[in-house]
Amino acid sequence: MTQVRTRIAPSPTGDPHVGTAYIALFNMCFARQMGGKFILRIEDTDQVRSTRESEQDILDSLRWLHLDWDEGPDKGGDFGPYRQSERSDIYKEHVNKLVAEGHAFPCFCTEERLTELRRKQQEEKIQPGYDGHCLSLDEKNVQQRLAANLPHVIRMLVPADGKCVVNDMLRGDIEIDWHQIDMQVLMKSDGLPTYHLANVVDDHLMQITHVIRGEEWITSAPKHLKLYEYFGWEPPVLIHMPLLRNADRSKLSKRKNPTSIGYYQKMGYLSEAVVNYLGMMGWSMPDGEELFLVEDMIANFDINRVSLGGPVFDTEKLDWLNGRYLREKLSDEEFMQRFGEWAFDPATMHQIIPLIKQRVELFSDVAAIAGFFISGLPKISLADFEHKKVSAEESIKILQFIAWAIETLPEWHRDRIEMLLMGMAEKMELKIRDFLFPVFIAIAGTSVSTSVIDSIAVIGKDMTRARLRHAIEVLGGVSKKGAKRLESDYRSLGI
Ligand code: GLU
Repeated sequence: MTQVRTRIAPSPTGDPHVGTAYIALFNMCFARQMGGKFILRIEDTDQVRSTRESEQDILDSLRWLHLDWDEGPDKGGDFGPYRQSERSDIYKEHVNKLVAEGHAFPCFCTEERLTELRRKQQEEKIQPGYDGHCLSLDEKNVQQRLAANLPHVIRMLVPADGKCVVNDMLRGDIEIDWHQIDMQVLMKSDGLPTYHLANVVDDHLMQITHVIRGEEWITSAPKHLKLYEYFGWEPPVLIHMPLLRNADRSKLSKRKNPTSIGYYQKMGYLSEAVVNYLGMMGWSMPDGEELFLVEDMIANFDINRVSLGGPVFDTEKLDWLNGRYLREKLSDEEFMQRFGEWAFDPATMHQIIPLIKQRVELFSDVAAIAGFFISGLPKISLADFEHKKVSAEESIKILQFIAWAIETLPEWHRDRIEMLLMGMAEKMELKIRDFLFPVFIAIAGTSVSTSVIDSIAVIGKDMTRARLRHAIEVLGGVSKKGAKRLESDYRSLGI
C-alpha cells in the first residue's frame, strides 16, 4: 500500500489562526495513525499579503502546540522546496503544458473590461464569471499579442454544463453544476500561480494521498479535480472538515472571538488543553472522555468517526478544560515549572526589563507595575475610563479606530506603532495625552504605567486586539448602527 501523506498548507498572510491548528491536528492524527507522513507547505503565492513574519509565527505556533511535521520549509525533505514562492518554474512548466494541450488559454482582458462584465452580470442577475471572451481570439492573434508581451493571465477551461461530482470521504458524493464554476485564473499576469494551480501541482508532486481541509474549499474541488484530469493524475482523497464557528454559528472570526494561536499562548492556556479542545471540535473519544491527549487521539483515531456538525469554538468551555488540566494533570512541581516557563519567558523578559528597571527601587515593586504584561484581560470598569476631556463615547472611538488601524501594520515594531498612534491623534485633533488615556486603561488597566506604546509592542498584536475589544465592551460596546457610523468616520480620517 502506498504510504499515507497528508499536509497542512497555510498561507502566511496574518496571525496564525486556530483553524489552521485544528486542520493540522486532524491531518497529523490521520498520518500518524496510518504510519504515514505529515507535511507542512507554505502557500505564499500571494506576494502582496504574504510575509516572512507571518510564516515564522505560524511555524512557532504549530510548534508550541506540538503539531509536528515531518517535512517542511524548515526541515527539508525529498519533495522540496516546501515554500511555493520557490517553486515558480515548476508551475510555469505545468501551466505551459495545459495551454499546449488546449486545457488553458491566455486571457488579455483588462481589469476595466472585467469590472464592467461583473457589473452587467450583477445587473442581469446572472451567475458572475468570465464570459470566455479571449477564447474567440484566433491563434495568430494570440501569438502576436504574446510576442508583444501584452499583459495577460492564464485561465483554465471548464465544462459549460453538466455536473461535477466531488467525492468527499466523509460526505459522500457532492454534485456541483459546472455552470457555477468560473474559468479560474491559474497564472496571474506577474507569472505567479494562483492557489488552485499551485495547490494541485504540489499535492501531486509531493505525493499527498489525503487532503484534509476546511469545508470552505468544497466549491474549489471541481476545478481541482478537473486539473488532475487535465494533467492525467490521480486525485488525492478529499476530506472537508466542518468549519469552526462563533457562538452565533457564523464562521469563526476575530471580530467575535480571538482566533490567533498566539493569543491563547499569551493568555496562559496549556498547549495540550488547546489541542485537546481543537480535537473535540471534530472528534470524540470512543469512551466519551472529554479530556484526552493527542497521543490518545492518535491511538484511537478513526477518520470515519469525524463529526460533521458545525462545531462552536467556545472559549468558556476551553477555560473549563484548561482548568481541569491544571488541577488533574499537573503536579504542583509541574505547575511550578510550566508556570515559570510561561511567565518568565526570556524573550519577553528581555523586552520588559528595560521598561521597568527605571521605575523600580526594589524587586518587590516589580509585580505591581509589570503584572499587566502577563495578566490577560485587565480587570477594568467603566469608572476607570472617567476623564475630564475624553468621554466614554470618544474612548470607544479611539479604541475601535486603533483596533482597525493595527491590522494594517506590516510589522509589529514600537516605532511603527508610535507613528501610527501619533498620526491618528493628530487626525482626530486630540492631544496625544488625551488620546492615549483610554489606551492606557485598555492595555495596562491604569493610566500610571510604562509607556503604553512600548507595552503594546511587548504584548503583541493578538493581545492588544483582545484588550482593546475587552475595553470597548466594558465601555458599553458598539451597536450595529454605531459600528456603521464609526466605520464611516474612520474611513474619512484616511488612516
Ligand atoms: N492555502 C490554503 C489555505 O490557506 C490551503 C487550502 C488547502 O488546504 O487546500 O487554507
